[in-house]
Parts: sequence; structure tokens; C-alpha cells
Amino acid sequence: MADPSSTPENAPADTIFGRILRGEIPCDPVHSDELCLAFRDVNPQAPVHVLVIPRKPLVNLAEATGADAPLLGHLLLVAAKVASAEGLGGWRTVINSGVEAGQTVFHLHVHVIGGRPLAWPPG
Ligand code: AMP
Repeated sequence: MADPSSTPENAPADTIFGRILRGEIPCDPVHSDELCLAFRDVNPQAPVHVLVIPRKPLVNLAEATGADAPLLGHLLLVAAKVASAEGLGGWRTVINSGVEAGQTVFHLHVHVIGGRPLAWPPG
């Protein structure tokens, strides 16, 4: 059995976003509060591409519980605030959950994407 005190390889604290939250690597922030941080995606898919991440190290929505409902609501409200501050008339929010959905960083994040026409359905 694994040592319960050990940190799994993909533990949120070890993701790139954990390192950003701890100030170990830089980001381009657009919003910060006691519950979350929002910063520009390093590989933007549109003129505006911001990530909103909780300070709590949740892996993704599959890991969230009822106790996280206020936090999840807060992330969405911050996403809307960021979109408004960026001057977006319309925007898309995306939360990839799991490898099959394209999640590559295993610390929950809300993508806020806008500034160009967005096709539907997504790829
Ligand atoms: P996902 O594929 O949903 O897990 O999204 C992860 C996102 O994190 C991608 O859009 C990456 O471009 C972005 N990303 C990875 N590393 C960084 C970083 N150091 N700063 C900002 N965005 C990052």
C-alpha cells in the first residue's frame, strides 16, 4: 500500500498551477482574491484566454463535492467579471475534466475564451 503521507506524482500541489499559486513560477494575473487566481493562458486559443483557478487544489470537477459548491460558483462569477473587464460581449467558459476531455493540468481551471467568433460544436 502506498505511504499515505507521500505525495502522488500528479498531486495538485505538484502541477504547474500549484507552482504558480505558490509564486514559484510567474504568471500574467488579471484577478486575485482569497479563493482564486486568474491569469492569462500561456498558449492562448483566442485574443482573450484566461484561466481561473481555485487556490484549493481540486483536481477537476469529478473531485468536487457539495462542500465545494460556493467555491465553484465563485469561480464562475469571477470568470464573468474577467470577461467583462476584458470587454468581451460574448465568451466561452470551458472546464475540461479528465484526459479524455483534453485536461492536461490536473488542477481545476475554468478557461475564459473570447475576442473572436467561436465555432460550435467544439472539437
Ligand atoms: P487543459 O488542457 O484544460 O488542462 O488546460 C491547461 C491550460 O493551461 C492550457 O491551455 C495551457 O496552455 C495552459 N498552461 C499551461 N502552463 C501554463 C502556464 N505556465 N501559464 C499559463 N497557462 C498555462
